[in-house]
Amino acid sequence: MTPYIQRRDKLVRRFAEEGIDALLVTSGPNVTYLSGFTGDSSYLVLTKDRAILISDPRYTQQIADECGSLATHIRPPAQKLLEAAAEVLDKLGTRFVGFESAALTVAEFETFKTLIPSISWKGAADRVEQQRMVKDAGELDLICDAIGMAERAFVVFRNLLRPDDTEKDLCDAMEQYIRRVGGQESSFRPIVAVAERAALPHAPPTSRTVNSGGLLLVDWGVNGGLYKSDLTRVLDTRTKSTFTDKGDATKLEEVYAVVLRAQQTAIRAVRPGVQAMTVDEAAREVIADAGYGDYFGHGLGHGIGLQIHEAPAIRPHSGTVLQPGMVFTIEPGIYLPEWGGVRIEDDVLVTADGCEVLSRLTRDLSDMRAFA
Ligand code: ZN
Ligand code: ZN
Repeated sequence: MTPYIQRRDKLVRRFAEEGIDALLVTSGPNVTYLSGFTGDSSYLVLTKDRAILISDPRYTQQIADECGSLATHIRPPAQKLLEAAAEVLDKLGTRFVGFESAALTVAEFETFKTLIPSISWKGAADRVEQQRMVKDAGELDLICDAIGMAERAFVVFRNLLRPDDTEKDLCDAMEQYIRRVGGQESSFRPIVAVAERAALPHAPPTSRTVNSGGLLLVDWGVNGGLYKSDLTRVLDTRTKSTFTDKGDATKLEEVYAVVLRAQQTAIRAVRPGVQAMTVDEAAREVIADAGYGDYFGHGLGHGIGLQIHEAPAIRPHSGTVLQPGMVFTIEPGIYLPEWGGVRIEDDVLVTADGCEVLSRLTRDLSDMRAFA
């Protein structure tokens, strides 16, 4: 049985308790998760015993390659995607249809209601996303591949780093390295931020050069084809003059040590049965106790998989209970305006009795010197 059939079966088993006899899947990543098809502009209709991919003739060959055994409705150019979906649902005789309220616009929903008024619709935001939180063995392998590629890209990045490189050059270069080590593409535009630019958690790259500040924050990830990775490291780019001029020698050590302690404390808190907010709190407490509580302004982490940000969110008030097979980032940070920011991000897996850190790049500051 392919993983796709298993995933669809698991979802369909919940139809009875939800009171639906079909599910219309309109989110691209969810269609991929349930079918293996990676093209876009396509929907998937699931009933108790049918799965039908609704697509168009541009994808006929790709469908044959990626999910050849799946039933399809290939719409002619004159038929719109929504009309095709309505036709399929109508032919199947479905009455109570679940839809993805987070992946259908109000206009699309109104169109469906007009096209097939006999259907009673039941929206839910995250049916498939909830299932996607727990990865199967094949997904885990692909995530680990994406992490391995990210790590190799970072090694190249470090080896080729020069003091007069700009943030923009390095951002472009990282995207190249990611492809060179086998990645399909960068899973998001890398963040490369020098000194006080790193105080912006999502700093866009500028013409600032590496040697104009004492630290370099790099946040990057690889899209291995389907699954993604996400890592952050801070390189120590201080030279003798920055040490003496700005007295930053102790500041970087101090802030870095707090962030690393927060990250390691959070990682120790990860195990099945624990709520996501408890893990967030573990890191947040370390940062607050060190006096930097006001300078950690984002959630601790996020799930990774087919998307770079997916469930579970590891943040305050998140009651999501951790389960074996969940994969997410742990990325505490401290951002001090005018000085800079430190974030350390790794990807972890919830195991049967705890946590496995999947990314293995060093996070010891003494190993992070950029220039000898
Ligand atoms: Zn990141
Ligand atoms: Zn992240």
